[in-house]
Amino acid sequence: LKEKNYDLKTLVKGVREGNRTLLAKAITLIESNAEKHFLPAQELIKELLPYSGNSIRIGITGVPGAGKSTFIENFGLYLIEQGHKVAVLAIDPSSTISKGSILGDKTRMELLSRNPKSFIRPSPSAGILGGVARKTRETIILCESAGYDVILIETVGVGQSETTVRSMVDFFLLMQIAGAGDELQGIKRGIIELADLIVINKADGDNIARTELAKRELQNVLHYIRNSTEGWQTKVVTSSALNKIGLKEIWELITEFQKLTKQSSVFAKRRAQQNTQWFENLIAEAVLHRFYQQEKVKELLPRLKEEVAKGKMPVALAVDTLLKNEKSEE
Ligand code: GDP
Repeated sequence: LKEKNYDLKTLVKGVREGNRTLLAKAITLIESNAEKHFLPAQELIKELLPYSGNSIRIGITGVPGAGKSTFIENFGLYLIEQGHKVAVLAIDPSSTISKGSILGDKTRMELLSRNPKSFIRPSPSAGILGGVARKTRETIILCESAGYDVILIETVGVGQSETTVRSMVDFFLLMQIAGAGDELQGIKRGIIELADLIVINKADGDNIARTELAKRELQNVLHYIRNSTEGWQTKVVTSSALNKIGLKEIWELITEFQKLTKQSSVFAKRRAQQNTQWFENLIAEAVLHRFYQQEKVKELLPRLKEEVAKGKMPVALAVDTLLKNEKSEE
């Protein structure tokens, strides 16, 4: 980042005009871990906040190979034909662990990435899942301010990433494929509970009968599972992302969902709760970070940890000792 790149006025204006180069620069600024970029980035977000929010935020998850990128490419192009502007973001927890990234493949979504009405941004790569999530949340605000009215956030089913994506979207889509024999192979109940829509992909050729069977089985399972969204019965549909079959039906369901949840205020309530939760999480993180930075805490911690581990010191007393020392420092 060169100094001139974060001339605030230029960035705000550029983003508002939908300039993709400046949008990308703005995102790079908020993704930066450098301390000197923190305040300029927050200032930028503050300027843009009034222009954000006007979108449907859709989370998409599924095992590698389910067809997510094929779906996002063709679904994105379909939405652009319908007059929308589509941003695609990703949360890839694998990139925080190793250099290799499951979602980062450059050849993905070639047609969509070349379309001027789309904006594709790979997963922020540095830091823990919480940090990646914060950056993605802020990126959503920037993309919305740039006029993107459909935000697709993709993740793979690894660890906590689905729950993290659920906590920042309005609608959550789980992409599945029919297994051999056991149709519900590998789907965790907890993941089904997050979904507003389950799409069984690759419903084409020899595979159609199996996907229909999987659909019926899933519909039965859903009777016993709590809905993800108040007032919305989780649905199951089949699709062929490759042959562009089922895309229109999926969009119609999402539109219906939006209409219903906006009428019932569930939509607005969820967004407010998500912001509150985000706020509380950031406080918890920041306070914890500050606590561990205290000199006295750093000094006392190893010994207390050892005593606690060996059962020589009551745990609560050890915590109390640390907190008292922290206070006396100020
Ligand atoms: P991702 O890992 O979930 O992003 O999956 P990809 O979109 O990369 O798809 C994995 C493979 O499945 C690729 O070879 C795709 O061409 C293929 N694929 C994706 N969607 C379909 C579909 O609807 N039908 C069939 N037959 N193949 C598909």
